[in-house]
Amino acid sequence: MTGPILACNGSDGLGKLLRWHAACRAAPLGLDMTRGLPSREQIALSHAMLSLPGVAPFDSEDGQDWLNYGGQQGIPQLRALLAPLLLGVPPAQAAVGGNSSLAMMHGAIGLAWRIGLPGHAPWSAASEVRFLCPVPGYDRHFAICRDHGIAMVPVPMGVDGPDMDQVEERAARDPLIRGMWCVPRHSNPCGAIYSAEVIHRLATMNTAAPDFTLFCDNAYAAHDFAPQASALPGLYDACATAGHPDRPLMFASTSKMTIPGAGIAMLGGSAQRVHWWLSAQQRCTIGPDKVNQVRHLRFFVDAAGVARHMQQHGTLLQQRFERVQQVFARRLSALQDVYWSRPSGGYFITLWVPPGCARRIVRLAAEAGVAITPAGTTHCSGIDSEDRCLRIAPSRLSPDHAAQAADIIAGCVLLACAEVASGTSTHDTHAVKRAP
Ligand code: PMP
Repeated sequence: MTGPILACNGSDGLGKLLRWHAACRAAPLGLDMTRGLPSREQIALSHAMLSLPGVAPFDSEDGQDWLNYGGQQGIPQLRALLAPLLLGVPPAQAAVGGNSSLAMMHGAIGLAWRIGLPGHAPWSAASEVRFLCPVPGYDRHFAICRDHGIAMVPVPMGVDGPDMDQVEERAARDPLIRGMWCVPRHSNPCGAIYSAEVIHRLATMNTAAPDFTLFCDNAYAAHDFAPQASALPGLYDACATAGHPDRPLMFASTSKMTIPGAGIAMLGGSAQRVHWWLSAQQRCTIGPDKVNQVRHLRFFVDAAGVARHMQQHGTLLQQRFERVQQVFARRLSALQDVYWSRPSGGYFITLWVPPGCARRIVRLAAEAGVAITPAGTTHCSGIDSEDRCLRIAPSRLSPDHAAQAADIIAGCVLLACAEVASGTSTHDTHAVKRAP
């Protein structure tokens, strides 16, 4: 057997790992890998935006006065640049919002709940509303469901998208299923890119609910480590071709392209869906922040500018992800039931550990000074009944710190496995089972 397995199984291995952990506890690293935040270096790529758009008056193109109220749909030039790249829809079928795509997702679900999708009853009139939720998935999507009392129906995520046999079967059978979360490119947290077959099946499947909507979060549409080899999976086009143009609502933002919290968010879909959204916006705001839209337009200039900028992000991210991958490969490869994703973009690595170990590893890592996302966060109930899935977010740390944190996590995986092997496990799997 190779090194890590020996380290796990023998009592010598356990003793050594416990001594190592005690030493870590005595001098904790203080590294935070809980959320996928961009690093300082990434944000510095957009520092030039702080002096944009400058003091010169803006052009009043297309009869728009960019400095006044109005322009509810967003500046046409910005939509022309970003709608095809981030949403895969024509510019006329996109609407620019505020700084957060999550806020637009929350807003769209709130609208469907209160007034209904065009031609359909409000969801609030239904006895129950259910969403299909690929798991592992994104906790903030689950939080939006929880906020609206939407029941979440988990479907397993695979390497190329959700388990489509289950999705098709449930969507066709259950009229209470009104929506589904999708992150088709570099999904959070698995890093999956939906295959052409998955996209085709999502677009063509029968749904019992006539207003079934794919809430398609394109948060990582342009976020590849290497120059983008594959195109954005064309979910909108596939749905339109299949005769279901109203099925997808697409969302994206520049939060992880420019300055998080000061980016711009967009929504796209059929002309009817976008009109529905914009009509409702008139009751919320007299117009979005067009100064920020001009700022983004002047910063990116054109699609080549976006690609150049995102390549710089990709390089910085890759440096961190590679270091984590190297540590995991060196220290965890020989372990049974331990494997992890190797994404080509996005912000997360998913690490699967032996059943019953994830919560223990999070605790051991925290004691050793590395904070990772609590186990269970990736599951819609907040509970991973197998206690196996960990979300690792290397982006914010320096490459050296990312490697150090990965080394601590790997050591904690080995320690948790050694505890199980030696029968000294204090893992609280019973607590997992008891949790609501
Ligand atoms: N969607 C996904 C899948 C994300 O991972 C994130 C950031 N972690 C967001 C949305 C956040 O988007 P925004 O900043 O536009 O609200």
